[in-house]
Amino acid sequence: MIYKEHIVSARKRIALVAHDNKKAELVEWCLRHKEKLQKHELLGTGTTGGYVERELAVPVTKLISGPLGGDQQIGALISECQLDLLVFFWDPFEPMPHDPDVKALLRIAAAWNIPVACNESSANYIFSSALLSSRHARKIPDYDCYIRDRAV
Ligand code: PGA
Repeated sequence: MIYKEHIVSARKRIALVAHDNKKAELVEWCLRHKEKLQKHELLGTGTTGGYVERELAVPVTKLISGPLGGDQQIGALISECQLDLLVFFWDPFEPMPHDPDVKALLRIAAAWNIPVACNESSANYIFSSALLSSRHARKIPDYDCYIRDRAV
């Protein structure tokens, strides 16, 4: 794979997702980090986004609910470089009907080199990084080279 640099702006687009057993934990975490979160543009899967918007009283773009396609919407945004950070508190103890979507989302986040916080500790680490509030470069797959190299 050939990579190129993508410039990530200081104001990030952050997606917030939590499985049902993790929603309270995510909302509590968001409340603790409200000051930082509100400096960025927030998106979320339908239910998670609704909770965060209500509890924090900050605007959240609400996508479709995860099991109905919201995870895939987030994946699409990542592959279009429309998302800079994913905070996804997924439940390690419950199988989900949309496990294939979860796997696809995590794969696409890895492919596009997006920072992903899967739990409170990793979210804390990411939110204490200077990169959160600064403009910086991120390495991403070079799609044009990818297509050119595959051409027959
Ligand atoms: P939800 O989706 O926020 O709509 O519940 C999250 C998920 O289960 O993927």
